[in-house]
Amino acid sequence: MTQLLRELIRLDTVNPPGNETRVAEHLRAYLTANGVSCELYARVPERANLVARIPGRGDGPRLVLLSHTDTVLADPADWQVDPWSGELRDDHVWGRGALDMKGQVAASAVAIASLAREGFEPAGDLIFAATADEEVGAGFGLSWLCSEHPDAVRAEYCVNEGAGDRVEIGGVPLYLCATAEKATSPFVLDVHGRAGHAAMPGIADNALVRAAGLIERLAAYRPEPRLIPEVAALVATITGGTVPPAGELLAFARRLDARAFEYLEPLVGLTLTPTMASASKKRNVVPGLCEVGVDCRLLPGQPRGEAESAVRDALGDGDWDLRWEEGQGGTRSPIDSRLWDAVTSFVAEIELAARPAPTCLAGFTDSHWLREAFGTVAYGFFPMRTMDPDLAVRLIHSADERAHVDDLELGVRWLRHAALAIGGAPGG
Ligand SMILES: [Zn+2]
Repeated sequence: MTQLLRELIRLDTVNPPGNETRVAEHLRAYLTANGVSCELYARVPERANLVARIPGRGDGPRLVLLSHTDTVLADPADWQVDPWSGELRDDHVWGRGALDMKGQVAASAVAIASLAREGFEPAGDLIFAATADEEVGAGFGLSWLCSEHPDAVRAEYCVNEGAGDRVEIGGVPLYLCATAEKATSPFVLDVHGRAGHAAMPGIADNALVRAAGLIERLAAYRPEPRLIPEVAALVATITGGTVPPAGELLAFARRLDARAFEYLEPLVGLTLTPTMASASKKRNVVPGLCEVGVDCRLLPGQPRGEAESAVRDALGDGDWDLRWEEGQGGTRSPIDSRLWDAVTSFVAEIELAARPAPTCLAGFTDSHWLREAFGTVAYGFFPMRTMDPDLAVRLIHSADERAHVDDLELGVRWLRHAALAIGGAPGG
């Protein structure tokens, strides 16, 4: 397991440009040697997706172990080790992608390979999909597979990234499982003024200065709190049953602890976060237009129109326009499912006092492609209990990313457990 992850980290798949074919070919060699049949699917030769499977005995439920093989970039100057060394130090595998998410890629490969060696015959196909281009999403990865090769990845159940870490909230040990995700729904705010010479600012109307006030209003926006089912179930798991009304949820979270508040705040409604601004290209020209890029996130299923009303209420009348850009995500899977039962039995097996808790991700993953294309029950769950979850969150997409070898082994154990739970019962 450790060895395979170290090899995958040494294959640079920073996206862009990706070059995920390196990893796909390396995995194919490993899987083929273990008796698992594989297929590479590539829209362009250097960006292949790998799909491997143990065919099912019949038409039982199919499970796909999903992961992505690309990573974000890394600046070696910020790291204690070479980010593409795969160095093993202090019981951790170090390198870009160790947590996000070559660790889970390697664990999935080891899980399906070990099951194949044991002669496992699942009721429905057990599939391992290691896909390209998750970090940018330019149409080379799972979205492309779902539209061009749907039979390769169609499945009733999916285990993907997104959660799984052991956290203590209000003194209760929880393993979080992401059953839903917020949507991204970005827009540009065009703020209009009148251009002029910066030496005589009085005769111009500075769009940048106008934008400043609007940016502050966007940042100050807070939604009317709403209680989505995933958050209700999470809170009920913490309290042992009682759930405060939506309006009291954040006060309740604050009383629990600072982490609970930080975690729940983005899950009670839509958020508006201004992140980009551009105005004049020359210092001596007063800008007639300022473009403000806003990262807007909606609750699963929440229509964009609600965000538009929120923005109009927050900004009031003025000389500005909204331009919506393409959004993504915002899907959910039912909490009550056979895969949920597998999560529950696994958590009981590894820590009797801990409880599994569903949650909604503030961000989004590739799970939404499968949910939208096939109605797949997709969960983000890769358990982690040795590394401090607060540390892990800070290492993802950052310097000194690393994964503890015990967590990687725990991940293999979970993926095998899930495969046996979904595919093990005769007749499915
Ligand atoms: Zn990822």
